Amino acid sequence: NMQPATKPIRTTCPYCGVGCGVLATPLANGGLAIEGDPDHPANKGRLCVKGAALGETLGLRGRLLDPYIHGKRSSWDQALDLVAQRFSDAIAKHGPDSVAFYVSGQLLTEDYYVANKLMKGFIGSANIDTNSRLCMASSVAGHKRAFGSDTVPGLYEDLELADTVVLVGSNLAWCHPILYQRLAAARETRGTKVVVVDPRRTATCDIADLHLALNAGTDTVLFNLLLAEIARRGLIDHGFAANLDGMEDALAAAQATPLSSTGLPHADLTRFLDLWTASERVVTVYSQGINQSESGTDNVNAILNCHLATGRIGKPGMGPFSVTGQPNAMGGREVGGLANMLACHLDIDNPDHRDAVRGFWQAPRIAEKPGLKAVDMFRAVEEGRIKALWIMCTNPALSMPEADRVARAIKGCDFTVVSDIVAQTDTTRLADVLLPATGWAEKDGTVTNSERRVSRQRRALAAPGQARDDWRIMADVAKRMGWADAFDWTGPAQIFAEHAALSGVAGGLGSDFDISDYRATTAPEYDRMEPFLWPQSPSRQGGRFFGDGLFQTPSGRGRMVPIFPANRRPVDIAAPFTLNTGRVRDHWHSMTRTGRAARLSRHIAEPFLELHPRDAERLGLAPAGLAQVENEHGRAILRVLITDRAAPGHPFAPIHWTGETSSAGRVSSLVPGLTDPISGQPALKSAAVNISAF
Ligand code: SF4
Repeated sequence: NMQPATKPIRTTCPYCGVGCGVLATPLANGGLAIEGDPDHPANKGRLCVKGAALGETLGLRGRLLDPYIHGKRSSWDQALDLVAQRFSDAIAKHGPDSVAFYVSGQLLTEDYYVANKLMKGFIGSANIDTNSRLCMASSVAGHKRAFGSDTVPGLYEDLELADTVVLVGSNLAWCHPILYQRLAAARETRGTKVVVVDPRRTATCDIADLHLALNAGTDTVLFNLLLAEIARRGLIDHGFAANLDGMEDALAAAQATPLSSTGLPHADLTRFLDLWTASERVVTVYSQGINQSESGTDNVNAILNCHLATGRIGKPGMGPFSVTGQPNAMGGREVGGLANMLACHLDIDNPDHRDAVRGFWQAPRIAEKPGLKAVDMFRAVEEGRIKALWIMCTNPALSMPEADRVARAIKGCDFTVVSDIVAQTDTTRLADVLLPATGWAEKDGTVTNSERRVSRQRRALAAPGQARDDWRIMADVAKRMGWADAFDWTGPAQIFAEHAALSGVAGGLGSDFDISDYRATTAPEYDRMEPFLWPQSPSRQGGRFFGDGLFQTPSGRGRMVPIFPANRRPVDIAAPFTLNTGRVRDHWHSMTRTGRAARLSRHIAEPFLELHPRDAERLGLAPAGLAQVENEHGRAILRVLITDRAAPGHPFAPIHWTGETSSAGRVSSLVPGLTDPISGQPALKSAAVNISAF
């Protein structure tokens, strides 16, 4: 029965950081009819194929419906008692830093807030990190270095107002499809010039006026060359530069950068320099190709330097723009859900900030130093330094670099709790305690998209089985650990209001993240809440940042950072190929949701290795044959796809597939756990591998 049972419920898509509004209409058959929300500013009614197929991903098949302890079904009370006991015991015996939470950019902000409050304020450790570390930690670190705060300066509409849009390490067409459609439509009407900077010729190149297939890992060289050219052409905005530190050093580093290593034809490089410098309205969009690198933070600052030097930032149609991979990476940043953050963009290293947060929470203690970032956290698990680990809403045994090693580490941990909506994942099968969580359309809360717009996710379906909301599960454990008053909420509206009130305290300390206008939000107001841009405070409502030359650093001045491009690694003869990884258009992460909709496998149905004809010939690989890809960390078996979209020596494979029963698609198992030294973000975009016929 496909008849609507009630009127549409306004909610938000759970996939990418575009954050599209969705109308979900409950049907008499228990399902949902899905449409785009014409009133949501991010998508104005459009949905991509993933969002449009959300109704086909529902149902109980494969869901985790009950708590389990060591593989046996248990009651909630038994499971929660055990979790509270084991965490309390570990803390009592080994101290607060012997426990850790590994959470997710797919948690709602309210869930994230509770996790952060419990770990940093009550347990007293900062050992909470998130899969967002794998996604945009380098952008956070780059923003903080340049602006003094993790603030996205611009808005989506800037892509529509720009004369030139440069997309760096971003396959926007597949990874942020609605933003891509908005850009493509603007290009049709106003002739926007589009430049794609990517070693691989992706689908996004369909609308590119210029594709710069630079050598992998040479983004800092390209943007240093641009900065030097900006200076040479006399385009430094000296009025704006009066608000900046570091210009001289950044310029000197840029001017000393040799021309050669990008591998770009001279004519292409010149065209890029001409286009960027000639367009006052220029937006540089960047994503994982920039962030997921050993020099991720420098990559980000090399881009920011060019926008700062020209004053092309925080004004209509101008600015650098980090697009986030996950639906709520931004919400996680706001609550401080990363190991090196506090809450509401306050600093864990600042004693005044710590006192303010502890006072607001009336917490017994507060984390005094940054905690373990994702890669280090699982190393600590491996070494037995973490005695109790709680993984929520994510699948690190598949998605972390050196995934096989991470899986072994989790298996060896004294006590592991996994909260998830899915019964069988690479990670749930390693858990001592499994806790069934509610998923999209079953829970209430908020998410923040890449342009700082907060939107509601709303409940449209009943919770299946015994599943409970993540915030409630954590609050119930916190109460059992002795902190009943601080975790006593009736629902997510109260948590949202508390977070908004804390943001007002943070605003008083100079934080840009201030949504204190919402501090008295009631449950009915929360139900009706419209999407809004932060900040929302008595002093400021939404808008762009930094166009006025005011920054969040202690001095109020912006910072240009001298960037010294790293030497490229010599080729390893045992692993001579550099594997590039990424998403496909119609699947999401480990496919636990998108894998359920048959039509989402019509585009691409199995894991593959895209490689250049010259490489295929050299290796004796035929189209549609099987390739074995391996190195010291792991092995994957992939279908061969021969195409000149991939550069010679630089094959590509998607990240989504698991190898539950074989090593089929387990691509993250091949990626070494190398990280950017500043952000701690792993260099997931590249792995040295050997390839042979299987
Ligand atoms: Fe969902 Fe992203 Fe597609 Fe929008 S563009 S419908 S947020 S996956």
